[in-house]
Amino acid sequence: MRPFTFHPGPRLIAGEGLHGRLPELLPDGPCLLVTDAGVRGLGLADPFCRALAEAERPVTVFDRVETDPSQETLLAAVEIGREAAAVSVVGLGGGSPMDVAKLAAYLLGSGDKLDDIWGVDVANGNRLPLVLVPTTAGTGSEATPIAVITCEGGVKLAVNARPLTADWALLDPQLTIGLPAHVTAATGIDAIVHAIEAYTSARLKNPLSDALAREALNLLSANLLTACRDPGNIEARSAMLLGAHLAGIAFANAPVGGVHALAYPLGGLFHLPHGLTNALMLRPVLEHNAEAARELYAELAPILDPGLEPLGSQARARGFIDRACQLAADTGVSLRLRDHGVGAGALDRLAGEAMKQTRLLVNNPCPIEEADARRLYEAAW
Ligand SMILES: [Zn+2]
Repeated sequence: MRPFTFHPGPRLIAGEGLHGRLPELLPDGPCLLVTDAGVRGLGLADPFCRALAEAERPVTVFDRVETDPSQETLLAAVEIGREAAAVSVVGLGGGSPMDVAKLAAYLLGSGDKLDDIWGVDVANGNRLPLVLVPTTAGTGSEATPIAVITCEGGVKLAVNARPLTADWALLDPQLTIGLPAHVTAATGIDAIVHAIEAYTSARLKNPLSDALAREALNLLSANLLTACRDPGNIEARSAMLLGAHLAGIAFANAPVGGVHALAYPLGGLFHLPHGLTNALMLRPVLEHNAEAARELYAELAPILDPGLEPLGSQARARGFIDRACQLAADTGVSLRLRDHGVGAGALDRLAGEAMKQTRLLVNNPCPIEEADARRLYEAAW
């Protein structure tokens, strides 16, 4: 057996209308609930707050998390939690509130300073009990030990360490029913990219992450278009939420590669949503990897189209790339950079920025040099 390590995600509770179960996942005492104004405005936090109040757990809501959350926001959440003497933290929302919740729970519990814990496996203290509740089916942040924070000058820094893995993830598809179609599409494609990139990861791919990535791709690809076109379809929403979670556990173990490496600069320079940036770079990077990842794409191909099964590996890999990109296109999201405010003059700078994503580039099945990145952005333009 090829040696490998695998870290399971948090314990999982999944089903419809689970807010009443939240108190039993948390210790007695004050709770800090971290979310954003959009989620709170939709009323999604209310049933959780009521359930905590009924269980006589005082709850303090911090709802000021922005997209690409800043260091100031994180430290403000920690301060509010400290003032409330919080003994537990709940993160409710997309990736941003969940990332802030992870680090707030860690900083409150450990007393560590943020600047001392950036990087991989540096944070090793205790955190407060933590429950994460996703309201989008995409980032998989509830499954991972990673939190990304935007620091001075727009620099994104990450903490990736075991203590950030939540105690519980609570998956309730009813929370995702109100998502607009373009958000369902972009976040769903992000999750599909997590599954594909985990399966093809050049470094830490392993049999368990493979199994999770395959099932994630199966659930996500079969339900993405239904969830976009029939937003109230609870079966499709359930499959998307579970698929995104499984993909999260997969890429927490077998990290993502080139699509994400080229997507991040689009988020940093143009503030485009994370899911959209992955959708935009999907085809160029899969094409770039076509030869290096041929066998792996061929293995995944029948999940997207059973009709590809009898073909040879080259035709199957070709079919896989086409089906995956067609699925993204069928959501109705424009997949051209120029349609999202990216000028042709920005391509050199984007390519330069992509080269800084070394922690992701090393996972890609095929090297991406700066000239390659420039060409791939041009192909997406
Ligand atoms: Zn992603």
